[in-house]
Amino acid sequence: MKYVVVTGGVLSGLGKGVTVSSIGRLLISRGYKVTAIKIDPYLNCDAGTMNPFQHGEVFVLDDGGEVDLDLGNYERFLDINLTRNHNITTGKVYRAVVEKERRGDYLGKTVQIIPHVTNEIKSQIKNVAESSNADVVLIELGGTVGDIESMPFLEAVRQLRMEVGPEENLVFVHTTLVPVMDVVGEQKTKPTQHSVKELRAIGIQPDIIVGRGAKPLDYDIKKKISLFCNVPLEGIVSAPDAESIYQVPVLLEEQGLTDHLLRRLGLKQRKTDLKKWKALLKPLLNPKHETRIAIVGKYTHLQDSYISYIETLRHCSAATNTKINITWVEAEDIEKNGCDCLKNANGIIIPGGFGERGIEGKISAIKYARENRIPFLGVCLGFQLATIEFCRNVLKMRDANSSEFKKTVHPVIDLLPEQKEIKNMGATMRLGAHDVIIKKGSLAHKIYNKTKISERHRHRYEINPDYIKKIENAGMIFSGKSADGKRMEIAELKNNQFFVASQFHPEFKSRPGKPAPLFLGLVKAAKKK
Ligand code: GLN
Repeated sequence: MKYVVVTGGVLSGLGKGVTVSSIGRLLISRGYKVTAIKIDPYLNCDAGTMNPFQHGEVFVLDDGGEVDLDLGNYERFLDINLTRNHNITTGKVYRAVVEKERRGDYLGKTVQIIPHVTNEIKSQIKNVAESSNADVVLIELGGTVGDIESMPFLEAVRQLRMEVGPEENLVFVHTTLVPVMDVVGEQKTKPTQHSVKELRAIGIQPDIIVGRGAKPLDYDIKKKISLFCNVPLEGIVSAPDAESIYQVPVLLEEQGLTDHLLRRLGLKQRKTDLKKWKALLKPLLNPKHETRIAIVGKYTHLQDSYISYIETLRHCSAATNTKINITWVEAEDIEKNGCDCLKNANGIIIPGGFGERGIEGKISAIKYARENRIPFLGVCLGFQLATIEFCRNVLKMRDANSSEFKKTVHPVIDLLPEQKEIKNMGATMRLGAHDVIIKKGSLAHKIYNKTKISERHRHRYEINPDYIKKIENAGMIFSGKSADGKRMEIAELKNNQFFVASQFHPEFKSRPGKPAPLFLGLVKAAKKK
């Protein structure tokens, strides 16, 4: 088992996740099996409770794990399915240590950060590594070197290096920022030198340095970093801003990173197979067609909150040779100024979300899409609101609503009876992959070309069974249902317009080369507009 540990210096938000994912893709391109672990040095046990406004999207895995959005990048770049154990947080580690202490596992010893917490970190890493059967395990350490929170993790990976046998079994990659002075345009290496110094002070010497910046690193700058940071020149790699993140593996490969990494890991050099990957890039960089999709949400100022939507649309771009211009619309702006901002949209998406803010704006947008026959896709909350809109405006149930937002005489979206009995709200959430049975002959059937699919979920409320008949009789049918038939999963209109919505989140399973079918359907319909 080989490890590649990626740390970050100077600033957060340098795109470390993309670097890690790209390295993974490159190893796969040489025929190696790869998995990835993300370490988040915060005290939350998982990302489930975190506000997307602060932290970006909460990504959901097959097993229902609510994890950091970087795991979404890993899954997309590596085309693998991860589990909740692939996201290690300080909260998870401390919880395990405290539980062991309470059980008496430490036999009366004083429980300390070193060795007890660091041992727990290493054992969680090794467990995931061993069960993954991978040749190489990538470990991304979130945060920035020098943060108090990261210290136990850095110490743990330093120890890991000693434990995994010969030096070649673990490679340290450090990603840093190489800023440019505006006036003279000179690339500055001092921040990199300092963060490497910080790493070395805790006993970690990086083997590879990835320098982020707007432009590629000049040769002299690479040489300077090599000299001052004690890293051979072939280990200094430049990661300039790219038009598409899917270009990054190619940019790194061109600098010989994979050859160097394999040498350093003591792995055989094999022929590179990046053909398929590059084929995807072509339509992304030079698309033939163009379309406009509006996303009406409530976290539109932080686009990381919708990262899987953006990536899924990119996968659709590549598949349809179409440039997709995304217009971000704040739902509350529609409440104030109406739907004029949707006039130019060829397609409309209402994404998932929690809480009442903005829902009336989203409902107006859905009405606009339905009445003007603009291709529409609703996801999760978007599915629930599409049902509410239909009940209000077609069935004339003016106070139709979700009991998440209001007590009403028409709770068309509600908790199922069995959920109402559960006292712990946390336990009522439906998470992860579940089967959906699709009705033959429906639009959903045409899109998926299957009658049974598996998609990922993250929701609490459901279509209220008392209203299903009435809604279906009026022309909105539920063409996808849970295997037991109790939960409605896909809604569509019977009138031949592209209007679909799903209770599940198709965007969590979309991959380059395998775009989520419902999104692809939307983009194709939008393209025709
Ligand atoms: N708030 C809704 C629910 O809990 C929808 C959740 C979502 O969109 N992810 O059911």
